[in-house]
Amino acid sequence: MRNNYNHTLTWSTTRITVLEYCNKKYYFNYYPHSLRNLNEEVWLTALLLKNLKSIDMRVGEKTHHLLSDYLRALKKWEQDEEAIQAHKDRVMGEMKKEFEISKTRDYTSYDRDNKFWLSEHYYGENVDDKFEEAMKKVLHNLDVFIESERNEKVQHYFTTAKSVYVENPREKDFEGMKLNLYSIPELRAVNVMAAPDFGVVLSDNKYLIIDRKTGQEKMDTDWISEQLKIYTLKLLLKSHLDIEKTDIEAYEVYLPSLHQIGGKIEKTDIDHIVQKLKDDVEYQKQFLVDSDIIKNEPLSPDNFPRTKSKKKCATCTFRKVCEDLKTFE
Ligand code: SF4
Repeated sequence: MRNNYNHTLTWSTTRITVLEYCNKKYYFNYYPHSLRNLNEEVWLTALLLKNLKSIDMRVGEKTHHLLSDYLRALKKWEQDEEAIQAHKDRVMGEMKKEFEISKTRDYTSYDRDNKFWLSEHYYGENVDDKFEEAMKKVLHNLDVFIESERNEKVQHYFTTAKSVYVENPREKDFEGMKLNLYSIPELRAVNVMAAPDFGVVLSDNKYLIIDRKTGQEKMDTDWISEQLKIYTLKLLLKSHLDIEKTDIEAYEVYLPSLHQIGGKIEKTDIDHIVQKLKDDVEYQKQFLVDSDIIKNEPLSPDNFPRTKSKKKCATCTFRKVCEDLKTFE
C-alpha cells in the first residue's frame, strides 16, 4: 500500500483520548486516507465525517475565537463598547453563515473546499433552536469574562509583565506549536504540537500559563491536566529552563463559570508527562506497519477493534462509515 503520510507519528492529548475511547474511531480520525485503496466511497465518507463537529464543539471553537479577538485587540489598545460589539458581530456573522452552509449543503459527497459541517445536520436532526442557544452561549462567555476580575488581571499583565502571549486560533502557527524533543531519544522523531491560549512571562523565572475550556468541568481544583504539563514542558525545552529553579503556574479556566483548575508545576509533573509521552508512543506504535513511527503507515483497518459500548457508537460521528466499512473487512 502506498504511504499517504508525509509526516511522522503525532502525539496529542486528544489523539490518545480518541485511541483509548475506540481504536476504530482513532483509525477514521487520523488515517482516513489509507481507506483510499480499499474503497473510494468509504474513503470519501470518512473524510467528510472527519470534518464534522457538533454544535457544542462549535460553541467551544467560537468562544476561543471571540476571546482571542478581544484579547489580541486589548493588547494593542483599550476596548470600548463599540469595539467589543464589532468583535461579537464578526463572530456571530461567521456562525450564521456557517450554519446556513451546513444546513443547506449536499451531504452525499465530500467537498474538500467546503469543510464546515455540523454532525447534527449530517444525521438529519433539526437543530435551529439549539443554534440560537449556541450563539447566546458564545456571547455570554465573553460577557462573563469582561465583567470578571480576570479581565482586570489580564489588562494588568499587558502593562506590567515582561511579555504576554495570546494565541490566534484563526491563524495557527504550526511551526511555532512544535515541541523540540531532541533531548529525549525515544521521542526525537515524534511530532508533538502544543500552544496554550494565554501565557505571561512575569519575570525571568516566573511564568503563568492559561488554557480556557468550555466543556464539562473537573472537580479537583489542584489537578494539573496533561495538556498543561505539555505546555510547561514546551516552555522548559524552548527556553532551556530548569523546572526546579523556575516558578511556573498553569491553570485551566472554565467558561462561563470562570472556575480554575491547576497550580504550580513541579518536577514530578514534568517527569510524569515525559513518561506518559513515551508510554503513549509505544501504544500508538502497535497500530503501525513495522511499528515505524517515521513512515507512520497504519495497519489494515481490521487491526483497529471497535468499542463494545453501544452508548459510544450512538453519538459517534463515524457511525455511518463504521457500518459501511464492515463490508470490506
Ligand atoms: S461507531 Fe462505535 S465502533 Fe465505530 S468508530 Fe464510532 S465509536 Fe468506534
